[in-house]
Amino acid sequence: MERAIDADALLAWYDVSGRRLPWRLSKDPYAIWLSEVMLQQTQVTTVVPYYQRFLKAFPTAIALADAHEDRVLKMWEGLGYYNRCHNLLKAMRRVRDDHGGQVPGVPEIFSALPGVGSYTCAAVQSIAFGHQMAAVDGNVIRVVSRFLAMEEVAASAVGKRRVQQLVDRSIPRRRPGDFNQAMMELGATVCTPKHPACGRCPIAESCLAKKEGKQEAFPVKKRRNPVPTFDVALAAVVRESGEVLIQKRPATGHLAGMWEFPGGKVLDGESHEQALCRSLHDELGLAVEVKGAVGVASHAYSHFKVRVFLYLCRASESFQKVRQGRKGQPVSWVVAGGLDALAFPAVNRKLFPLLRPYLEHS
Ligand code: SF4
Repeated sequence: MERAIDADALLAWYDVSGRRLPWRLSKDPYAIWLSEVMLQQTQVTTVVPYYQRFLKAFPTAIALADAHEDRVLKMWEGLGYYNRCHNLLKAMRRVRDDHGGQVPGVPEIFSALPGVGSYTCAAVQSIAFGHQMAAVDGNVIRVVSRFLAMEEVAASAVGKRRVQQLVDRSIPRRRPGDFNQAMMELGATVCTPKHPACGRCPIAESCLAKKEGKQEAFPVKKRRNPVPTFDVALAAVVRESGEVLIQKRPATGHLAGMWEFPGGKVLDGESHEQALCRSLHDELGLAVEVKGAVGVASHAYSHFKVRVFLYLCRASESFQKVRQGRKGQPVSWVVAGGLDALAFPAVNRKLFPLLRPYLEHS
């Protein structure tokens, strides 16, 4: 007989040991969907306050669909992976316009909405609507890789297929949503990346990695290329009234729609000052004089890291009246206190305390 996870044992464990997280108390498909989107790539403890604030501000799909993008982005600020937020907003507008404000309970219709991949579809449709669809996230991959002592690289096509097949044949008709949540919970709280607590595991009896005493050898990972690091030079162009110049990023792409200090990547062979002068000329048609360094901040994204250097700059008088950049992007002059009201990437935000004294004393 093919191996399968003992769903009864898993569910019995989950009923007693599963954490009572806010979204697990909800039957509202919109709230469940929101939690699943927020939880992608993000720790539960980080998500909880965001989820609660967001749901209070936008309690229904229609409330979110009707909200201004700037307000939604501001509520999401700091949670990262901003594409999730843009897609969620687009999806809710489709839910409002095409589905009368009700989240579709038919997987084929739901999966056609923006940002809904196979994981989100299976998670929401099983938890909110009881469809027997197995949701596979990183936690589930770890549990199954160990359960099968799977030699294939977990992220490879073959590895993913084996994991999916195992959960597909294990998920019960009754309580499929709880089964999915129990698998994720097991990975998050018991079958952890390091030092799994096999003594508390409800499926330990059939786990091959445990039997072989090789739990931490799984999942098998493919060798990673080192993550590249880029230097970025940004300008704090400050005018005498104590306001600093900011611009809005394009509506699509990395960190879409967020505000930032102008500037750009330092190219090979360029000094920071040269990079600043080039990018401010290209983005804003602006000649600046670099007055000195404000500070530096670092940030790690999923595929690269940045070190961001902020420089205090002065611009010519004439530019101070300009209201948009060369590509039509909105620009704005804001006082120190005004920065907090707008959505900025985390790395810009790390520079605020370093910049504040220059704004307050200019
Ligand atoms: S027995 Fe240990 S390694 Fe196997 S699934 Fe349970 S916690 Fe993970």
